[in-house]
Amino acid sequence: MSLMRRPVLQLNASYEALRIIPAMRALKLVTKGKAVVELATNKLIYPGIYLPSVIRLVVYKHVPLRMQVTTRRNILVRDGYRCQYCGEKFRGGDLTLDHVIPRSQGGKNSWENLVACCRKDNHRKADRTPEEAGMPLKRRPLPASVHTGRFILRSMGLAVNEWGRYLYADSDGDRRFAVRG
Ligand SMILES: [Zn+2]
Repeated sequence: MSLMRRPVLQLNASYEALRIIPAMRALKLVTKGKAVVELATNKLIYPGIYLPSVIRLVVYKHVPLRMQVTTRRNILVRDGYRCQYCGEKFRGGDLTLDHVIPRSQGGKNSWENLVACCRKDNHRKADRTPEEAGMPLKRRPLPASVHTGRFILRSMGLAVNEWGRYLYADSDGDRRFAVRG
């Protein structure tokens, strides 16, 4: 992976973990004076400048509870481009979005009700719930948050231990994906 695309944890001015962004965007925020580096890696990118691992916004930003919009791409990224029924990895163009609870049964266009699904499984599942179709989900779809970000990082094989003390500071008490070690 290119260094500039390496994930960086973005904190609010209050030190609350906000989101995970690519290093390139993090560096832009820092050079514009909008953020400061809280934790740097040992990877030198320019003379005297180390790749950041954690940055913090200078000015507090009010962020609504649901930080990210439900888009096809965001769902595919959350699911690591894997069909959530067969577990196989596909190119984006070969994946569809499946409504876990079908729209015909009142299923919504929400993070919790949309999953990446290959064409074959989408056809097989049709207008049924996973239970009705006998097709259990590989994992429960979660809303976008720092927690799902961590999920994505783990699936990418990245160590996020260095972020532990920032992520543990979360106030929502959700420790399901707490960093171990
Ligand atoms: Zn599939």
